[in-house]
Amino acid sequence: MTILSSETDEATTAATVTLRGHTIPVGLYIAGQWRPVSTTFDVVNPATGGVIAQLADGTDADALAALDAAAAAQDAWGHVAPRDRADLFHRAHRLLLDRADAIVETMTLESGKPLAEARGEFQLSADFFLWYAEQVAHLHGTYAEGSRGGYRVITTHQPVGPSLLITPWNFPLLMIARKAGAALGAGCTIVVKSAKETPLTCALFVETLHDAGFPPGVVNLVHTTHSADVSAAVMADPRLRKVSFTGSTGVGSTLLKQAAPGIVNASMELGGDGPFVVLDDADVELAAQQAILCKFRNAGQACVAANRIIVHSAVAEEFTRRFVELAKNLRVGDGFSEGVDVGPIISAAQRDGVARLVAELGSIDSELLTGGSPVEGEGYFFEPTVFAINDRDNDVCNRELFAPIATIYTVDSTREAIEVANDTSYGLAAYVFTRDLSRAIAVSERLDSGMVGINRGIMADPAASFGGVKSSGLGREGGHHAIHEFLEPKYLAITVDESKGLE
Ligand code: NAD
Repeated sequence: MTILSSETDEATTAATVTLRGHTIPVGLYIAGQWRPVSTTFDVVNPATGGVIAQLADGTDADALAALDAAAAAQDAWGHVAPRDRADLFHRAHRLLLDRADAIVETMTLESGKPLAEARGEFQLSADFFLWYAEQVAHLHGTYAEGSRGGYRVITTHQPVGPSLLITPWNFPLLMIARKAGAALGAGCTIVVKSAKETPLTCALFVETLHDAGFPPGVVNLVHTTHSADVSAAVMADPRLRKVSFTGSTGVGSTLLKQAAPGIVNASMELGGDGPFVVLDDADVELAAQQAILCKFRNAGQACVAANRIIVHSAVAEEFTRRFVELAKNLRVGDGFSEGVDVGPIISAAQRDGVARLVAELGSIDSELLTGGSPVEGEGYFFEPTVFAINDRDNDVCNRELFAPIATIYTVDSTREAIEVANDTSYGLAAYVFTRDLSRAIAVSERLDSGMVGINRGIMADPAASFGGVKSSGLGREGGHHAIHEFLEPKYLAITVDESKGLE
């Protein structure tokens, strides 16, 4: 049930919504204040199709006001001492942990993902934030002698500047925690543009940063249903120095074009077409279990999902039998129900898209092994679906499915497996299953992807550099690379008169 109420905050009068006992701001957050709601849009629970909240629908003017605040706060935030910045991060991390239940339940409510998955995402997001908290206090430059003597080269790092962070709906907390942590840790102020499907989790995250004491203007949040216009307005403003985007390759490409005139620094985490390679010596049971996780987690709506399962003919029958058996056992339902494995598709429109994909895959030389239909009743559920594909020379075989649809391709050699795996414009995550470590390395080195899971189907970690090659993106999130996406090296040349100083 939705209860819209007005509550007084120290800083401003802010509208909130109370869901499952958790109070969530529904306004825009600009210059340290929650701004009152004017025009609103509906947030829907995909497990029921019902409206759960109305949020402020931001305009170009709101986004530019957020950029005003970010630009005004940039110099001071960029010069906060590393230890003070790290202290804020640690405070925010502790507050996040205190608010785990509110954030986890809100994530399940607006994205539909099962509670267990939401908890896993929460833990990973909190770990990312902790990783950045630890990194913030330990960013070092270099010192070198000029190559022909007479001067010294000191290299330091400076924040790139005010940054626009655009996130998708499929991992409502992880996507923003991963980006915001790196940007803020580097000393950049941020304007966050949430995904309209899952803005509530983003609001709780930003509220946590506010309560932790991040100064006004350092963090700003704009929700909107006019993403294209709002982003274009911010991208055209010369004060914006960085865009960090996670979403589809098409939108990423549009943003890169918008970044070109002003040479705006850009990081792009885009779509994937993940090959999941099972070689003839693989532990088939392990491969099948991991493929289920990798394919059906988040109802298949993950950039790193196993999009094409490529299996050596020597184990294809055994693998397929087990995989289909496991897929049939998955429980589909509301993420709040006990024992549910697969939640709903994010919207009615997306579920219609899944049905169209099934029809397309059914129209080529393929065999439907299980599933294939929407689930009757309320909400946007779809059966876990498995196809064996006999002819891969079809456009639909090189498309990101982003759905609970697994496609299995049989190959006769390791070389053919690599060829099929690389036959895509994408290059985000790939997976290899083999008992031979040398083979695993040899194959991994030949896969055109930014990441390879060896005998495992899940691999996001704060210590790992997450990102893709080819149409899957530019730059990395996590690991030691992430914070440097928001920093620019700056070199100071200092003349040193070698004849002096020793007298
Ligand atoms: P999307 O590209 O439609 O939307 C992503 C974000 O961009 C949303 O906030 C949306 O409102 C905004 N947006 C849409 N059009 C825009 C425009 N013209 N200008 C500026 N912003 C715009 O993607 P989606 O459907 O939300 O997410 C699914 C896609 O995201 C898939 O392709 C998936 O693979 C990809 N993804 C990639 C990663 C990764 O780390 N590489 C992670 C998650 C999702």
